[in-house]
Amino acid sequence: MLNFPIKDGAEFVVFDMEWNQPIYGKEYDIDVSTLTGEIIEIGAVKYVYENGHIIKMKSFSRDIKPVVYTSIHYHVKKVTNKTNSDLQRGVSFARAYNDFANFIGSAQILIGWGNSDPAMLKQNLKFFDMDDDLHIYFLDLQPVFSLFGGERGRQRSVEFAVDYYGITKSNGFHSATSDAIYTGKIFEKIFECNKTAQVLSAISSSAIDPDVVSEYTFVGSPSKDPAKAFEGVDAFWKKCPICDSTLSEKIPRFRIRKSEYALFYCRNHGEFFARNRAKKNRDGDTYVASVLRIATQNDYYLVASKKEEFDKFGIEGEPKEKEENTEEN
Ligand SMILES: [Zn+2]
Repeated sequence: MLNFPIKDGAEFVVFDMEWNQPIYGKEYDIDVSTLTGEIIEIGAVKYVYENGHIIKMKSFSRDIKPVVYTSIHYHVKKVTNKTNSDLQRGVSFARAYNDFANFIGSAQILIGWGNSDPAMLKQNLKFFDMDDDLHIYFLDLQPVFSLFGGERGRQRSVEFAVDYYGITKSNGFHSATSDAIYTGKIFEKIFECNKTAQVLSAISSSAIDPDVVSEYTFVGSPSKDPAKAFEGVDAFWKKCPICDSTLSEKIPRFRIRKSEYALFYCRNHGEFFARNRAKKNRDGDTYVASVLRIATQNDYYLVASKKEEFDKFGIEGEPKEKEENTEEN
């Protein structure tokens, strides 16, 4: 949630990144869990908000030469079409990030598609011993698109949204620079096709501060009895993970298929999205992975739509052929 109103002159930076991955089975000098991806490209476009519109100002693009994962991962090569020799052409991560920070300048909101980029950026900053606070709000445009596209809770690709708005496809997808440009065009369309007040409200309520830990997880003990496994994580949902205040229920917990959902409220920290998911370990015992996080607008819709489904179909949920992506949220 933004703690300031969006006024004329407010700047947004829409960005995207590509990263290379460690190759399975290959030996590295580092603990690969401290660097799950090494950023190889940052692309961005800056917009300024004026009088209900957003206006494109300038764009940014940097290729980064990796120093740890120096040969391109098969999967990354397939998706981005980058080759090993492309990786040689870039600048250092530190240089690229400093340029990017200068490009961001006084912009107050960073916008991406999906919620993985800020965490990856912070991980790289930390790995290279740089300040890993981003000092800027982050907005995941993907759920905002779904909200205005009338399909709350669904996860769609940049290309889907580009087609949805009939945006001309002049470049390929999956380069950070072209995906940032496309994401910017989607952002423009969201403003063009909807009421300004509603768009601003969606942005304000969905933006998060990526420097504040907003998600807390807990894994319960395994049990032969699934009901016991669920009871084992009960205490985790009683108190606010930040200030320890007693949480009150806004949407009482309910179970649908293998997951439990609830919406809680802390008087200091607002609404919390809560989900318990039953999983099986190697011995066939059930254990429960629990999440509490400061609710974004998308989380709120997720719980509300699951509750609607539960009220209609009960614990088994709506009969369907395959699990939907929405549960991954
Ligand atoms: Zn609290």
